[in-house]
Amino acid sequence: MQIVERGLILRETPYKEADIMLSVLTECNGKISVLARGARRKSSKFSAAVQLLAYSEFTLYESAGRYTINEAEPIELFYGIREDIVKLSLASYFAEVLEQAADEDCIDPELLRLGLNSLYAIAKTEIAHEKIKAVFELKIAQLAGYAPNLFSCVSCGEGDAFSSFDIRNGSLLCSKCDPGYHPKVDASVVDAMRYILGEDIKKIFSFSINDASMKLLSKLTDEYLRVHFDRNFKTNTFYKTLF
Ligand SMILES: [Zn+2]
Repeated sequence: MQIVERGLILRETPYKEADIMLSVLTECNGKISVLARGARRKSSKFSAAVQLLAYSEFTLYESAGRYTINEAEPIELFYGIREDIVKLSLASYFAEVLEQAADEDCIDPELLRLGLNSLYAIAKTEIAHEKIKAVFELKIAQLAGYAPNLFSCVSCGEGDAFSSFDIRNGSLLCSKCDPGYHPKVDASVVDAMRYILGEDIKKIFSFSINDASMKLLSKLTDEYLRVHFDRNFKTNTFYKTLF
């Protein structure tokens, strides 16, 4: 059976002599493995469309749940990401997290939208990388089912004067209940987190935050993703060695 499908390439693995096995996050079929025959040959007609982080339209032959590429046309290659080690490292981290979050049996088009919007923000906007990374981390945690509770203190139920954030519980603590060892938050961090969780993906980067609060948010989302996905992403470890 032949199908036409759009998807973002999250991982590529050399396969046999000249083939590449791709992990592709698609619009309609979730995450699928796709074989690109001969894609490592210089003469391959679809080498641009099958590179890591390309968003392409594929004509696929499907048989017993296995997909092979017949045709591939790039839609968006995110030029600008591959020439800059910082941008490429951040984008590779996003690809690794997306691959972990995407379930082969569960189709969530929001994951693909978050991936494409985040790569676009890296490649084509002046938005600070620290902000893009924090927004991506919190939003993908939400899409994966790990949204924090940001409306009242988990201990006493008070609704304001938050002073810290319990990462493991995904909840806020007010200044009276703060035991002192959780990461600190201020009102701007809480507002930013509420904005990211509540807003549509196409607007999630459109909020302002001062540098000090951005630093708090950034540390918090980095740790939040690591704890709730129960994994140290090696691409994130590498990204952080660049600074
Ligand atoms: Zn409290």
